[in-house]
This record gives sequence, structure tokens and C-alpha cells, in this order.
Amino acid sequence: MKIAVYSCREDEIALFEKYGKEYGVELSISPLPPTPETARLAEGCFAVDIITTPVGRDLIDIWRGFGIKAIATRTVGYEHVDYKYAESLGISVSNVSYTPHTVAEYTVMTMLMAIRKMKAILTRYIGQDFSLKDIRGKELCNMTVGVIGTGKIGETVIKNLSGFGCRVLAYDVYEKDSVKQYAQYCPLNTLYHEADLITLHTPATDETCGMINKNTIASMKDGVIIINMARGVLIDTAALIEALESGKVAAAALDVVDGESAIYYKDFKYRPVGHHEMAILQAMPNVLMTPHTAFFTDEAVGDMVRYSIEHCVKNV
Ligand code: NAD
Repeated sequence: MKIAVYSCREDEIALFEKYGKEYGVELSISPLPPTPETARLAEGCFAVDIITTPVGRDLIDIWRGFGIKAIATRTVGYEHVDYKYAESLGISVSNVSYTPHTVAEYTVMTMLMAIRKMKAILTRYIGQDFSLKDIRGKELCNMTVGVIGTGKIGETVIKNLSGFGCRVLAYDVYEKDSVKQYAQYCPLNTLYHEADLITLHTPATDETCGMINKNTIASMKDGVIIINMARGVLIDTAALIEALESGKVAAAALDVVDGESAIYYKDFKYRPVGHHEMAILQAMPNVLMTPHTAFFTDEAVGDMVRYSIEHCVKNV
């Protein structure tokens, strides 16, 4: 029983060794991402364990030839895997879930940082500019926060916000009773019209891709703040940039951005990144960009490694 582990970071190795022993499986661990060129690392294995690298038909076909029976992505999202194709070949595809607190706490942190103009304050401090010009913030307790998507993370964000005293509007295709004591569900249009700050917590689907676009931004309050810790494709990035430049959107915090997958988790220190929209956003003092790190805690990484191995073992 051997699993090929792709894209293994140094901080995950000890966890893989620990949980590999616990579940009685042998592991072939590699820092390389899964590609047709690295497919052969899975020869002799019954399952592959991956992260966010896109996995298409070409790669799945090669793995199938090696007898791979399970693809486990140690991420919540699984849209990067052509899972319908894999499953049509009898290969199971599984994702993991981990404590929602990791992303929910990060969301509240970035909300507060956006409201209090923390990027400008911190960067100005480095240049010893201790003046108060243009850095006056607002108080969350006086704001209306709109939460789109009240699944595990969205609900936890709402519970975390309950201590701040702000008004919380929520929208989801499925309403949950457990959310109703902390937030008021409303139609999406109402949320867009009334929220001072909008935070996104839906998966990337045909319905949600590009949901924040020129038209929906036009229906929002002037000076709205947009937070995206979910998936980059939920936002039409060009429309967001235009709205930030015009002042319609006052600030944004983005842990994810469309087109990030070949960029984030790599070191580009002395090389051009080649993502123009990301460069424009990063240059804005009112846009906080982080490289898809909302999940990154001891607790979540432990869960990701453990449950990805467990799914491989259970699904064959
Ligand atoms: P979840 O499945 O528990 O919740 C998603 C919610 O979105 C569900 O309640 C679902 O009904 C709702 N939804 C689906 N389509 C919708 C639509 N069209 N309109 C409104 N609501 C809709 O997922 P989760 O664990 O809460 O994760 C939420 C998002 O966070 C996902 O996109 C996930 O990929 C992302 N995420 C990001 C990070 C990070 O590090 N930045 C880490 C984990 C998860």
C-alpha cells in the first residue's frame, strides 16, 4: 500500500511520516508538482496525494495506466482536478475538510486590517512616516457586514463577528437555522445594496464565478470594502481594479486572485511574476494581498495531511 505524495513542503514531511505510520501506508514523497513529466513518481502506488496543481485528463490517463485508484487533494477546493473524468474511470477523488476557524479568524483579521488601513500604516512606518494623513479608519461595530456563503467558514466568520456588535447580513442558496441567531438572511441584491463590507465564502462554481463584476459592484454602496478569502475567480479582477481606482470600492483584502495557481507558494524574489493585475493590486495602498495563506496553521496542515491519507485508504 503505497501513496505518491506530490508538492510536499518541508513543513509537511514530519506530518506525513507520522500519519503514514498511523494508517500503515508507505509513502513516496516528492516536492515536485503532479505533471505528465512527474507522473511516473506514482508508479507502483495505489493513490496520489496532491495540492492545488491542475490535474487534467492527460495526467489522469497516465496514472490510470499505473493502476491509481484514488486522487486525494489535501485542499478544501477540488475544482483543479478533472474529477468527473477521474470518477468516470473509477478513480475516486476526495478533498479534505479542516477546522473552519483557521480561515474564519484570518478573514476577521483582514477585515479589521482593511477597515483600519493597516497596509498603509505598516508600510509608512517602515519609511518612518509617522504622520496621520489619510490613515483614519472606521469602527467595525458601526458597520453592516455582508457574508456571501454561510457554509463552514462563512458561518464561523459570522459567529466570530457576533462579538463586535456589527449588523450582519447573509446570503446563501441554503439557509441554516444555526446562522439565524447571529445574522439576517436576505436576497443577494439587498446584501449588495446595504453592506459596508462584503466577504465571500462560496466555492467556485458556474454560478459564483465572476459574481463580483462591473454590474454587481455598481449596485453596492459607495466606499464598500471587499474581502475574498474563497477563490480568485469569484471576482472579475479588472472590474475590481477599475472600482478601486474610481473610489467606488474603498479597500479590498484578497487572499486569492484569479490566475494565482502558477504563482503562489513559489519564490519570485528576483524574477518578474508576469501577472499584471496582481501587480496593480499589490501597488495599491488600500489593497491587502496575501498568497493564499488563510488556511496555514499548525492545526489545519495537520488535518490536511491526516485526512488526505485517510481518504486514500478508505476510498480503495
Ligand atoms: P462550504 O462548502 O462549507 O460552504 C460553501 C457555502 O457556499 C455553502 O453553504 C453553499 O451552499 C454556498 N454556496 C454555494 N453556491 C452558492 C451561491 N451560488 N451563492 C451563495 N452561496 C453559495 O465551504 P467552506 O469550507 O466554508 O469554504 C468556503 C470557500 O473558502 C471555498 O471557496 C474554499 O475553497 C475557500 N477556502 C479558502 C481557503 C484559503 O486558504 N484562502 C481555505 C479553505 C477554503
